[in-house]
Amino acid sequence: MVTHHLKEAFDRLNLTHMAAVYDHHAEEASKDSISYLEFLDKLLWAEIDAKRERTTTTNLKLAKFPYIKAIDSFDFDFQPSANQRKINELKTLAFVERSENVVFLGPPGVGKTHLAVGLAVCAIKSGYTAYFLSAHELISMIQENIVSGRIHRKLKTLNKPNILIIDEVGYAAMDDEVAHYFFQIVSNRYEKGSIILTSNKSYGSWGDVFGNNVVATAILDRLLHHSTTINIKGDSYRIREKKKAGFYDVSLYENESNDANG
Ligand code: ADP
Ligand code: MG
Repeated sequence: MVTHHLKEAFDRLNLTHMAAVYDHHAEEASKDSISYLEFLDKLLWAEIDAKRERTTTTNLKLAKFPYIKAIDSFDFDFQPSANQRKINELKTLAFVERSENVVFLGPPGVGKTHLAVGLAVCAIKSGYTAYFLSAHELISMIQENIVSGRIHRKLKTLNKPNILIIDEVGYAAMDDEVAHYFFQIVSNRYEKGSIILTSNKSYGSWGDVFGNNVVATAILDRLLHHSTTINIKGDSYRIREKKKAGFYDVSLYENESNDANG
């Protein structure tokens, strides 16, 4: 009778985890003869922890990361220019709290995406939200939504996550219209939400990326006002792994661009 009543209360309050574990905890409580208050405390915190875990799992899925990597698995000895002191400071997530931006610059394979994802995973575990997309995907999204007339609504959805990751800016050039909407995104989020951006191009070449120096300057102005830049100058980790495995052929990599020195 009491159990039935209790179950209904859990149900009405949407305490799903508590409903699943209360009898186990109650049994333990009577064995360990803990106080009523301790028992209640245990149950409530079990529910809070379970809810937090569910939120984290959901938000990790919604972020659409290409892969999940942790900062802790990053080998800073291999890549000393990836300033570990700065990364540790970023890991405190003060930049998210202050809606500041982070830019990773460097050639392919040096860990830009790994670090960007790692920071966003940290943030999600602390209750923030993130959304990942490559510049290529962003460009297609902008173009499709211009055509379908939904661009303004779409831009609004990009304001929502605490962190917006725009990966690989610089591989695909943008026409004036797309560059304009890219500026809108950066401008809308200015001082309201963080952007983590990665690029293989130094800031000096962004005029070419956005096809227009005026727009590039306006984007950089907003993006860099409150920001941290991590400029990684080093060897590709992918090549190191291939070298270790013994099938590294230098001619395959001669054309990989390495112009992010700014
Ligand atoms: P980028 O985005 O700069 O092209 P990635 O971040 O995708 O490079 O790195 C390529 C691969 O190498 C990923 O699997 C990443 O986890 C790994 N990687 C790169 N740098 C390191 C590092 N210093 N320590 C551990 N793994 C690394
Ligand atoms: Mg990358």
